[in-house]
Amino acid sequence: MITCANCETPQFLQIVQSRVYFEDGEMINEISENYECTLCGGTGQYVYDEDREEESVSGEVELTTERPTFA
Ligand SMILES: [Zn+2]
Repeated sequence: MITCANCETPQFLQIVQSRVYFEDGEMINEISENYECTLCGGTGQYVYDEDREEESVSGEVELTTERPTFA
């Protein structure tokens, strides 16, 4: 789950841009989403790398896991 690092809640986050990367016209390798918090104005980016099954965030958003990322 993506939450605002300032407000510590996902409640006010909006996806402002979403991008999906294709390879060879069909494979989705990476998903990129930009978030904006409508409460504090913070922005951040979420990237999911499907090849490595890795999630990462940057900016003023945090990635919280309800289940362990690495089992
Ligand atoms: Zn916020």
